[in-house]
Amino acid sequence: MKRQRKVTLLAVFLILVLALSACGKTTASQSKTTENKTNKQVVTIGYLPITHALSIFEEKKLLENENSNITIKLQKFSSWSDLTDALNAGRIDGASVLMELAMSAVSQGVDLKAVALGHKDGNVIIAGRDIQSVKDLKGKTFAIPHTQSSHNILLNDMLAKGGLTTKDVKVVQMAPSEMPSSLANGSIAGYCVAEPFGAQAVNQKIGHVLYDSEDLWTNSLCCGLVFTGKFIKSNKATVKTMTTKYEEAGKKLDDKEATSIATQYLGQSESVLKLSLKWIKFNDLKITKKDYNALVSKLKKYKINENPPAYDKFVYQP
Ligand SMILES: [Zn+2]
Repeated sequence: MKRQRKVTLLAVFLILVLALSACGKTTASQSKTTENKTNKQVVTIGYLPITHALSIFEEKKLLENENSNITIKLQKFSSWSDLTDALNAGRIDGASVLMELAMSAVSQGVDLKAVALGHKDGNVIIAGRDIQSVKDLKGKTFAIPHTQSSHNILLNDMLAKGGLTTKDVKVVQMAPSEMPSSLANGSIAGYCVAEPFGAQAVNQKIGHVLYDSEDLWTNSLCCGLVFTGKFIKSNKATVKTMTTKYEEAGKKLDDKEATSIATQYLGQSESVLKLSLKWIKFNDLKITKKDYNALVSKLKKYKINENPPAYDKFVYQP
């Protein structure tokens, strides 16, 4: 009995010694992590897994390769509304987001600024095999991801070519990933959305390209790199570096690099990505007043946003 008690006491003592030494180790490694964190500024950027966000993926890689003191923490969202909720509430520092969504938030009093474009062009209008011209869409259902989008503008531009308006079609908002299957089952006749969802339909032979964005709107704008006004105010040097590096990242996205980074982040087949990347440009991400004003006039013309912010109010040049 006595011996058994001694053994038990020894075991308790050993457990305590082990536990204390483990605690010591944890404290040391935790303080090391904190030190690493304080040496680098972490900037949280929201994105959706689309080819339109490749510039931010590439910028993250560039900054890591240069051992920059800025680290981009990418936060993935599955819908534009979830992303804009986080951005508008300041839960993320910035986002790769549809310009129209950010402009609409600014129209409603949210303080956001765009520093660069995410890309130029890069959208297509996909139609089912029975739709051969715009006129065939009359009375049919057409899907867009959000009313505040270049996809809505491109739909309006295309309908105007055929003498139609959005009153002649049933426009529905749908999650991008559901669009190819909805086209396949006939619940929609066509759609326009960020890539690679257009290329998926073409690749699966369930739809074809009726128009690409260049046919409808020269130098069309779509996504931008947007920061909250609050973040910009207290991080001007960081925003300047991030904008310069972002534009540099866009220039590095030739076919090979774009396919490689898209494969890493989007998990789509190479054939889908290669087709999709034929439609998009990343080499010049500056927001010019001319291109921005073309976007503003289209938003007003189609009554998508009747009070969009002026260039000087929305575009920040660090
Ligand atoms: Zn876009």
